Amino acid sequence: MSSSAPKVLARAFRQAKKPSVPRLKPIQCIGSLCEPIRSFSTTRQRWEDATEPSHKVKYTTDMYPTLKRDPRFSEITPEHIQFFKSAIGDEAVVDGVTKDAADDIEAFNSDWMRKYRGHTKLVLRPKTTEEVSKILKYCNENKLAVVPQGGNSGLVGGSVPVFDEIVVSLSRMNQIRSFDDISGILVVDAGVILEVADNFLAEHNHLFPLDLGAKGSCQIGGNVATNAGGLRLLRYGSLHGNVLGLEAVLPDGTIVDDLGKLRKNNTGYDLKQLFIGGEGTIGIITGVSVFCPQRSKAVNVAYFGLPSFEHVQKAFREAKVQLGEILSAFELMDGQSQGFVHQVTGNKRPLEGDHPFYVLIETSGSNGEHDNEKLEQFLEYVMGEEIVSDGVLAQDETQVRSLWGWREGITEAIGHFGGTYKYDVSIPIQDLYKLVEETRERLLSKGLIGDDDSYPAIGVVGYGHMGDSNLHLNVPVRRYTKEVEEAIEPWVYEWIQKRSGSISAEHGLGIAKKKYIGYSRSENMIKLMKQIKDLYDPQGIMNPYKYI
Ligand SMILES: Cc1cc2nc3c(=O)[nH]c(=O)nc-3n(C[C@H](O)[C@H](O)[C@H](O)COP(=O)(O)OP(=O)(O)OC[C@H]3O[C@@H](n4cnc5c(N)ncnc54)[C@H](O)[C@@H]3O)c2cc1C
Repeated sequence: MSSSAPKVLARAFRQAKKPSVPRLKPIQCIGSLCEPIRSFSTTRQRWEDATEPSHKVKYTTDMYPTLKRDPRFSEITPEHIQFFKSAIGDEAVVDGVTKDAADDIEAFNSDWMRKYRGHTKLVLRPKTTEEVSKILKYCNENKLAVVPQGGNSGLVGGSVPVFDEIVVSLSRMNQIRSFDDISGILVVDAGVILEVADNFLAEHNHLFPLDLGAKGSCQIGGNVATNAGGLRLLRYGSLHGNVLGLEAVLPDGTIVDDLGKLRKNNTGYDLKQLFIGGEGTIGIITGVSVFCPQRSKAVNVAYFGLPSFEHVQKAFREAKVQLGEILSAFELMDGQSQGFVHQVTGNKRPLEGDHPFYVLIETSGSNGEHDNEKLEQFLEYVMGEEIVSDGVLAQDETQVRSLWGWREGITEAIGHFGGTYKYDVSIPIQDLYKLVEETRERLLSKGLIGDDDSYPAIGVVGYGHMGDSNLHLNVPVRRYTKEVEEAIEPWVYEWIQKRSGSISAEHGLGIAKKKYIGYSRSENMIKLMKQIKDLYDPQGIMNPYKYI
């Protein structure tokens, strides 16, 4: 080991020889590292916080006055309400049409980022697939526009209405239908919350093959509808591979009964793939069957400070070479992002001093001794080569969660000041951080970033799933303004197009990126997508004004 090896890392390195604690042991508080990891709060809880009044969120229609309500859609009448009550029960209808239900409906109208706000007066909360079918058939026949809503944690404004579209909330469809611990196949209602499913699987020594900061709120139906990527795609792959079957309802009420449990099934077109990442534009997902891997017995997490993005790339290459099959996450965080988490949570930083970059590495394997040996060799190498400047290694479950909190807490921390312009992009790895630097320079040169209230923007932050070449470029702002938006868009999309990247790596298109899809998809591809949309939803009632 190099004599210049950082003290904390050297100590952690020695302690790493102890067997790691399995992830699901009861958490015990140890020193300064005992902080909650899941700092994410649900949308509804946010609105209950008096310091964040929902009325401050501007209507999408005021922010984007060129958007016009599609005159093909009917207005909701008391007769429509009557039908819905008879079809799914009074308790399942949040009716703001025939009475004042503004307070009950507000959380369904406004998105997590406080950026988009609709005007709906009707929320429907079905409990069964048959009820969803009755709702959509009626909406289709009566030309009533619909927005499917899961946990409302989406980051592109797809989950909330723009005008008076009816919100169909899946939250009451929350049953785990079956689990087979031999095949690892889980079948759930679409409204099951991701964390609930993962906790259930933990009791059976399995895990959900997707994990993300919003896991306490987002629903599996929403995850599938957005094709969410998350923190461990590097290891477990995308939902396009892990979703084995799907049940959905088309606008005309047809139930797509493809809830198969087979890993192999080459009998015809794989139509379920259209719903994965379809963002509720061709139908409502009501059930999902997912292949879930065995939960790893040994999980280790290390958190490093690094001097430059070149060093981050070297560390990544080395992690792949040396940790290969046990590497389950490699997450990038820049110094500013960690500064914001520190500022907002007040939590003690894992490392002393400021570093330009931070990386969180997670390994998951079945043999603690073997994993520790590999990790030791890796640590020895990155320290000896001075690739990392400093680091800590979690010693138990509490510390694992605490270190993850520095990564998962970023989204919420930077949204704390007012709002965030969010760009979730895929670009070749060597250019990943250049985008953050050039955006920062651009906003500074336009006088849009500063320390006091006269400046709309607070900074420019970069973090993300480095293992998947997926960067989250975020601009935290005191308020959403046209100057900031116009300084970034479409400049940022042109930047990405020049490098053959994707303008949406994992968050989807929603309303935020609808008009920019051409930067990542050819005219032919967009035409084919529109054909699919017209085929499944000829009246255009499903999540209008968004996607394509
Ligand atoms: C703190 C935080 C961290 C996040 N981290 C990640 C991350 O790492 N990776 C990532 O990919 N995303 C991330 N997200 C974004 C978001 O959590 C995901 O997009 C998630 O999959 C959305 O699920 P949801 O249930 O909240 O869906 P919603 O937000 O309710 O809806 C999202 C879209 O799916 C549609 N939809 C929802 N349910 C259904 C259904 N049953 N049938 C058809 N359409 C439906 C909606 O109409 C909408 O277009 C994060 C968000 C937050 C707030």
